[in-house]
Amino acid sequence: MNSSPLERILAAHEHVTGYRERRTGRGYRITCAVCATASYKGAVTEAENGSVLMHFFCGHSSAEVLDALGLSLADLFPTRDLRTLTPQQRRELRESALLPKWRAALEVLTHEANVLLIVASKMGDGFVLDDNELTRMRIGALKIFDAQQVLAVRHG
Ligand SMILES: [Zn+2]
Repeated sequence: MNSSPLERILAAHEHVTGYRERRTGRGYRITCAVCATASYKGAVTEAENGSVLMHFFCGHSSAEVLDALGLSLADLFPTRDLRTLTPQQRRELRESALLPKWRAALEVLTHEANVLLIVASKMGDGFVLDDNELTRMRIGALKIFDAQQVLAVRHG
């Protein structure tokens, strides 16, 4: 693909949302693909090195909007060569790669926490757990442990 990050992003925006970008003095305004409304809440500008800077006044992050456009943070940059990225851009890239795993881990944590809450309230009501329920609780504890391992990422 020879297109610039800006061209890629504007094309994906129009394709996904059905709205064309609007030119402004310093760049473009686009709609937020996450909000999926007709208001132009996004400001898009091209930096001198060809990277794209995006800001969404609705509060959605660039990563969330790019995800909704079928793109990733790497698409903000003219090259995927990591040597040209700033430490901040590198960190954003690493974190964007981890987001799906974190999301899955959080779903597991939420689900298993609910299971344990139900069991705890049964025990509080004086119920004695049978073998199946004890096994289910042990599996839940293991799943929570795994999810914690996924989420325990050091930021550096
Ligand atoms: Zn939004």
